[in-house]
Formats: sequence, C-alpha cells, structure tokens
Amino acid sequence: MLLKFPPSVPDNQKRDLTSQILDWCLTNGVVFENSDKPGNGLNVPVTLFPTPFSRHGYKNAIELQVLYNSLYHAVFKHPEFVIEQLSQLKEDEFTMKLLSIYENCSKRRTQNLTGGVFRSDYIVDKSRNSGEEGRQIKQVEFNTVSVSFGALSSKVTELHKFLAETAKTSVHGEVPVSKSLRDIAKGLATMHSAYGCQQAILLFVTQPNETNVMDQRLLEYELYREYGIISVRATLEQIHRKTTIGEQNRLIFIPTGAEISVVYYRAGYAPHEYATAADWTARERLEGSHAIQCPSIMTQLIGTKKIQQVLTKPGVIEQLQPNLTNTEIELIRKTFVGLWPLDETDLGKEGQKLAMQSPEKFVLKPQREGGGNNIYKKDIVKHLENIGHENWSSYVLMELIDPPKISNTILRNGDLVTGRVVSELGVFGTVLWDTEANKELMNNQAGFLLRTKTQKSNEGGIAAGFGCLDAVLLL
Ligand code: ADP
Ligand code: MG
Ligand code: MG
Repeated sequence: MLLKFPPSVPDNQKRDLTSQILDWCLTNGVVFENSDKPGNGLNVPVTLFPTPFSRHGYKNAIELQVLYNSLYHAVFKHPEFVIEQLSQLKEDEFTMKLLSIYENCSKRRTQNLTGGVFRSDYIVDKSRNSGEEGRQIKQVEFNTVSVSFGALSSKVTELHKFLAETAKTSVHGEVPVSKSLRDIAKGLATMHSAYGCQQAILLFVTQPNETNVMDQRLLEYELYREYGIISVRATLEQIHRKTTIGEQNRLIFIPTGAEISVVYYRAGYAPHEYATAADWTARERLEGSHAIQCPSIMTQLIGTKKIQQVLTKPGVIEQLQPNLTNTEIELIRKTFVGLWPLDETDLGKEGQKLAMQSPEKFVLKPQREGGGNNIYKKDIVKHLENIGHENWSSYVLMELIDPPKISNTILRNGDLVTGRVVSELGVFGTVLWDTEANKELMNNQAGFLLRTKTQKSNEGGIAAGFGCLDAVLLL
C-alpha cells in the first residue's frame, strides 16, 4: 500500500516552507562548500517532511549498535582470521596494499589503543518478516572508516522536529533528534583523553577539494567548545610534508610542534586518494606512530564487504563470540540478507550460479567505499564477463533489499521533486579498543542518520545528486 504521504500542502505554503528550510540550513551550517568558490555554501538537499519509518525497525537498529560494535571487536581480535578471509581478495591491489602496511607497522607498534567511529546502515524490507513486529530492518553494510553526516544529521533532525512542533508542517508523529554531533565528538574526546596528553591536538585527515566540510567542522567546533581540544585538518599530501615522528614514536605536527593524540580519518578509503608514493608514505607514518588511529588499518579492513559476507556464514559469529546469547545472535542474524562470495568454494559456486541465473535479485559489490562502486541487476552478468574470472573473488554478491513504497518531496537546488523514495537508516557507534588487554574500553551507540533517495536511482549519493538528508517520522 502506498502511504498517504507526503501531506498535501498548497503551493503558497510549500514556498513558505521551502524558504524556512533554506534559512534553517544556512543558519545551522547544513551546507556543502562550493568547491568553485571556497568559503561559499550550497544548500544540502533535504526532504520537505520527515519520512515515516517503522518504529520497531528504528528501535531495533539503535539497540543493535552496541552488539554490532562488539561483534566487530571480536573480528578485530582475530587478525589471522581477517587476513585469511582477505587473502581471497588477492587481485584487489588496494586492499593488499593496506594489508601490507598493516603488517609492516604491526612489528613496531607502540600504541595499544585503537578507535572507531562506525555506522551500520539499514533499509526496511517489506517482503520478509513483516507481521506482528512490524517491518524488519536489513543491514546494507557496516562502515568502519570515514563515516559522514553525523553532525549534519543532528541539524536536519532538529530542523524537522522544529517544523513539526511549531506546526509549520502538518506532520504528526514523533521526530527523534539524533545526538550524533554531540556523541561522536564525545567519542573522539574519550580517545584523546585516553591518549593521556591534554595539550596534544587531534588530526582530521581530509580529502583535497572536500565539499562536505561543515559536517567535519561542526565536530571540530564541538570538540573545542566542550572539551577544549584543538584540531587541525590536513590531506595525505600535506601530512607527508607537515608531520614527523618525534621522540618515543610521537606524531608531531611540524607547523606548531604539537603532538597529535588522535588521527581521525575522513579520507583514505579510496584508491584514487593515494595518487603518489608520498600519500602511501603518509598513511604508513600515521599507522606506525604512537597516535591513536581512528580507524587503524585493521579496523578499516574489517569493514570490507568481504568480512560482512563471511559473518553471515552459519557458525562464524558463534566461533568469534562464544559468549553471546542465542537471543543476541538471533537479533544480529535477523538483519542479514543473503551474501555470497564468488570464489571456487561450494558457496562461491552457488553465488556464481545465482548471479548468472537471476541477476535482477542482486547487487554485486567490490571492496570499495564512498558510493558509486556497485553493479546492479542485469549489469552484473556483463560486468562479470568483462572483468575475467580471476577477479570474481574480489566481489561479493548480495540480495537486494525490497523497501516499502513511500513518497516524499525532496528539496534540491531550490527545486521540489515529489515521488517514490527509499530511506536508509544509519546508526553511529563509537569504540575504543585496547589491543594489549584485548578489551573494549568504550562501546557506545552515537545517534543516527536518515538518508533518502528517489526510488529510481540505485544509490543515494547526496553530493552526486540522488540522495538527501532526512529525519525519521515514527508513527
Ligand atoms: P558504499 O560503501 O559505497 O556506501 P553500500 O553497500 O552502502 O556501499 O551501497 C551503496 C548504496 O547501494 C546503498 O546506500 C544503497 O542505496 C544501495 N544498496 C546497497 N546494497 C543494497 C541492497 N542489498 N539492497 C538494496 N540497495 C542496496
Ligand atoms: Mg553505504
Ligand atoms: Mg560503505
């Protein structure tokens, strides 16, 4: 059934609502930096109304985060298991290069602590497990590096709550506010404090020509306002020139001589970012230094789609986390859809057969982050034929999640577009792990994000022009 959504609003009210939203966004930093004109902002696309989302699914996703954080800690504690799984990806040069840096650095590591800002993403599935509990959320992926929109999600959810409560929209229902800006900053501050040098600074690793700058700046300002922590931003190329290793393996920011406590990556996940040998040298310097990595290379690698696929195999969670209760295992497993390798194992051969026989049910994923890398439906067969059989094991095959039919209006570049939409809920998590004591020192759920895209697009790249930021409307 198509929900009666969005509410019908006369054109003059829509214009008024649009201008209120644009003003809110400009006032609160919900903007992308215009890369042609640095210092100028472009409104981030947002929905006109918060999108209805299953209350059960929302609650479930929030509650699952600490379980998922712990599951990934269990994976992290077994590097030999991770390396064995990743050896299937030997044709994937980028993953292999990261792994070789991990191996080089593990011999000389002086820092026991390692951090993470994670985000587990879900889409509600309408065809499975509906019934009493309501619709079931299914996990799209678990991100362990450079997760974005924590800060802007706090702002956009506040916007929709404000509009609903002040009767500026005719939306009825609960609109929860995401505390992700506060909570991610708190997570980073906890890492900084655990490093044990108050006057040290935090390093944000950023991409050149980044447009999603405010999402990062808001965290920087929150860290200073709430904790007095100073941050600097630098690209890998700048890090190569501006950092050095000082006494006792300390990472030093040359321009000020400050010691760096935490290296927070908002970059470094895509092959094109390592255009020169200097970029790789910079990454290796950071990884091998005494600064807490958020994330370390091993933490980045456990976020690969390959590890996600392996975790769905029967018995793997139990083997990694023997102390989990059956109820906890069941909660996690319920969020899985089918995932297959395309290697020469029995499961891999099953995956190959499914991909060739019914590609319209699947998405094919390489070990890449940041959107725009997946292959969908009928394109899968052509793609597999093109890349050659020896490269197949670098991919995983995933069942497509079937979202409920909902409509909303998206405001992008001043234009309003109404139509069918698909929403993806992300839940943030912050962790701090002690690799010496094998302990979780921090395991928190850290707010959420709702991204919505038009149903016609396979992916919801917000900057790419398909997706937008949204809030959850709990009915
Ligand atoms: P990335 O790491 O590049 O973000 P994702 O696995 O999140 O890769 O895939 C990108 C997008 O593709 C998702 O945000 C979602 O819109 C869509 N997508 C991915 N997997 C599925 C799936 N199993 N079912 C439906 N849509 C999917
Ligand atoms: Mg994703
Ligand atoms: Mg991802």
